[in-house]
Amino acid sequence: MQSQAMFFKARAADKLADRRLQANLAKARTKFVDGRARAVAEYDAEVGADFEALRTAGSRIRERVLENLDVWLETFEERARSRGAEVLYARDGAEIGRLVVDIARRHGVAKAVKSKSMLSEEAGLNEALATAGVVPVETDLGEYILQINDNEAPSHIIAPVFHKSKEEVAELFARTHGTPRKTDIGEMTREARETLREHFLSADMGISGANFLIAETGSAALVTNEGNGRMVTTLPKVHVVVTGIEKLVPTLEEFSTLMRLLPRSATGQHISNYVSVLTGVRGEGDADGPEHLYFILVDNGRADLVGSDFQPMLRCIRCGACMNHCPVYQSIGGHAYGWVYPGPMGSVLTPLFTGIENALDLPQASTLCNQCGVVCPVKIPLPDLLRKLREKQVERKLRPWRERLGLRLWGWIAARPAAYRLAARIAARWLRRRAGGAERLSTLPFVPGWTAERDLPAPPGRTFHDLYAGRARSRSGE
Ligand code: SF4
Repeated sequence: MQSQAMFFKARAADKLADRRLQANLAKARTKFVDGRARAVAEYDAEVGADFEALRTAGSRIRERVLENLDVWLETFEERARSRGAEVLYARDGAEIGRLVVDIARRHGVAKAVKSKSMLSEEAGLNEALATAGVVPVETDLGEYILQINDNEAPSHIIAPVFHKSKEEVAELFARTHGTPRKTDIGEMTREARETLREHFLSADMGISGANFLIAETGSAALVTNEGNGRMVTTLPKVHVVVTGIEKLVPTLEEFSTLMRLLPRSATGQHISNYVSVLTGVRGEGDADGPEHLYFILVDNGRADLVGSDFQPMLRCIRCGACMNHCPVYQSIGGHAYGWVYPGPMGSVLTPLFTGIENALDLPQASTLCNQCGVVCPVKIPLPDLLRKLREKQVERKLRPWRERLGLRLWGWIAARPAAYRLAARIAARWLRRRAGGAERLSTLPFVPGWTAERDLPAPPGRTFHDLYAGRARSRSGE
């Protein structure tokens, strides 16, 4: 997928002005947030359970993997091969496409059914398959809706059609399927299921991602709320798992710990509807399962993060909680971010994977309120990582010179209390004079963006330092 992250500001402005999107976002805004809060409270109410301790355990599991990633990769590879699977590595998106197309050619594949793979978005895999004459069919309901809507991009990592209303989908189905318009979600889902069933039965290859790779058994774990994942992984004779090298978990036991975190953080469920662990090719006497199983383990920028300041980002288990709780994401939706991953996790991952210089505004697309850091199930310090990316932009002189100069001046003054106090007094006096007795300022010179959408309260008569010093004096009885 071609990144449009350089155009974040313009895209965000469009999304803010899009009344239909704003209405859809307003309806969906609290769904996942309330669900997570309820699930966490219920977990904490269980005897001896503590969600914070669970988050710490999840974070440690992910760090344990990253500290010895090469060892766990070797273990996984050996166990997966011993169960008849082939393990391949892809350096980048283009290599993923080449490897999948090679496998398709080797097995004479004409149609591939797909489920749950953000990496296939990173790689533009559908385009590569179509160019090679293989028909890709998305089978997750949300992804299917996007595919028949002119291959629209997802706007959320677990709810790809987060930005669409039921009525929009009803119109799309009626147009595409040539059926009467329905708005009952059950009926619409049945209609999609009937269309997709044909594809499950006629596909020669299944392609999926993996929520986790379990090293000790050489398995891929898939966590979904729709049954299509099981059809994709078991019906076609060939199955290809495309996933990132960082998705490893050492043991099944540790996988079960992460499974207590993932659904609660993502959708507020205690457990997802389908938790599938795919191990090896179809054995003698097995009723189903693929005859040929391939794992394509993808780097695409991940290995460079191991051992760097940004290693914690590789702990991500793709739950979506950070974007659900982000006031920026809640206001503009996912498409404004311009690449595969939206919200706070995308504002870190997109610059890291596509180049800091190609996503200049994403690290700034945050109020640093730390909601994302508080809800992240594996304790990724997202605000710290965003700040580090900002620092790198300044070091590499990628920010406008005015901004860099302003930050340098700010740093100089903030390190000198007397100068800071004097500057604060002068600025407050100047702003009060500018307000002319009014309580709010509707325009500001130098930084007009601050007052473009709302007024700034005029500074009160005394600065915080004055008030604090006065209170300290009265406490000491001076
Ligand atoms: S960064 Fe944390 S909260 Fe966001 S998707 Fe990843 S695991 Fe979930």
